[in-house]
Amino acid sequence: MAGPDSGSRTVLPDPGIYTVHAMGETAEQERNEEVTMDEIVALCKRRGFIFPSSEIYGGLGSTYDYGHYGVLLRNNVKNEWWRAMVGERDDIVALDSAILQHPRVWEASGHLAGFTDPLADCRTCKQRFRADDLENASCPQKPSKRPGEGPDCDLTDARDFNLMFETNVGPVKDTASVAYLRPETAQGIFINFKNVLQFSRRKPPFGIAQIGKSFRNEITPGNFVFRTREFEQMEMEFFVPPDEAEEWHKRWLEERLNWYTELGVRPDHLRLREHGADELSHYSSATSDVEYLFPMGWSELEGIANRGDFDLSQHAEFSGEKLEYFDQATGERYVPHVIEPAAGVDRAALAFIVDAYDTEEVEGRQRTVLRLHPRMAPVKVAVLPLVSKAGMPEKAREVYDAVRRRVPAEFDEGGSIGRRYRRQDEIGTPWGITVDGQTMEDDTVTLRDRDSLEQTRVQIEGLAEELADRLEQPWRSPKEG
Ligand code: ATP
Repeated sequence: MAGPDSGSRTVLPDPGIYTVHAMGETAEQERNEEVTMDEIVALCKRRGFIFPSSEIYGGLGSTYDYGHYGVLLRNNVKNEWWRAMVGERDDIVALDSAILQHPRVWEASGHLAGFTDPLADCRTCKQRFRADDLENASCPQKPSKRPGEGPDCDLTDARDFNLMFETNVGPVKDTASVAYLRPETAQGIFINFKNVLQFSRRKPPFGIAQIGKSFRNEITPGNFVFRTREFEQMEMEFFVPPDEAEEWHKRWLEERLNWYTELGVRPDHLRLREHGADELSHYSSATSDVEYLFPMGWSELEGIANRGDFDLSQHAEFSGEKLEYFDQATGERYVPHVIEPAAGVDRAALAFIVDAYDTEEVEGRQRTVLRLHPRMAPVKVAVLPLVSKAGMPEKAREVYDAVRRRVPAEFDEGGSIGRRYRRQDEIGTPWGITVDGQTMEDDTVTLRDRDSLEQTRVQIEGLAEELADRLEQPWRSPKEG
């Protein structure tokens, strides 16, 4: 989490400042050269994953709407996170706290005073820039330069700009009615510590997990859905006895990195980057980011912080409630320390798409394919009648009805079979079932593999179970060397 001090907000890694513990290469300014962000944006638009929001009104800067396949992909990201956090563990429980919270929450957390970025305005072009990130910004005046470098640039001194969106609760708009859209989900967890401790029958080490929308009035959003003003977070606060914090921090670093690789992200496109001392939030004794090699360079997917007892102590002080754990067995009373893996749904979805994007020539034709892990793919199997006659559409519908009960499936009978396959390749559907003339005679179909393009003849009976079974198998990206 970028805590309430601006120093913790990361820009593209500067190896001169940060200690980088990379799984792969550590070169400066390294970028993912396999695909451009423009190609990703175009595919997402073309196939209905993601659209600019309010498009018919000319759009609203850096807000996006997710279409059908985008929703399915994001649901897969969230479901996999829930599965890893709650489904496969006994020590984490779920929470869904309100977006609007008492304004004192943000006083206690430090966000009201310090969740700021330094902002500089240009009096000439009227643009705003993050004063600590001018290196990566460009001035809209031609010839394009960095802000401040052009002959007409006239930048103001940097001033702190709070990133929280302010609103009013109730019909009267006065200072007493001010509330904020939450800039992170984490505080909703800390303020519920006592409730959860009481009702979940857990004791440290245990965690509380939450997924939900967060809002930040970012000065310079950008890189598609990487940085937006409205986004979704997946945060888990793991409460531990103080002397176990370091050990749990290490364990969560490993767990979280493995989550991405098990879901097919190539290990050499992921790395852990440890924050330098000057970059740490005031509450954190150690933070590392999981970074992915995006087209714009290595960038944060998730931060994993050791937050100590900062949050519980602050809320205890501001609310007057005791937020601690009393161990009846030992008679010990303590404020648990917190390890926090904080990830973004939108960034993760973007990384899965970028990592999966591939093009190749097949029989003289170019094909674009998303080589997604089958569990990430929005649709697992497409059922296609070879032609729209001779009873094939009806038969294909029967197969579709049987298969969709076990795995997310799609039926498509419009257009040539080649075009239909290309469409499925672009949305990352790992398997295609074709119902053809032979199906009508012997109840077999062809099963096409998205990556190898191999087609095998299989019995309809048992196929749905076979596909459901395949979804649970370990998987590696065919793009891995
Ligand atoms: P950054 O340095 O990139 O601004 P951060 O360190 O401020 O990120 P955290 O506060 O640690 O981010 O939030 C946890 C996660 O939430 C981030 O790793 C990221 O995946 C996601 N996230 C944060 N801000 C945004 C945003 N503006 N748009 C999309 N996702 C975001």
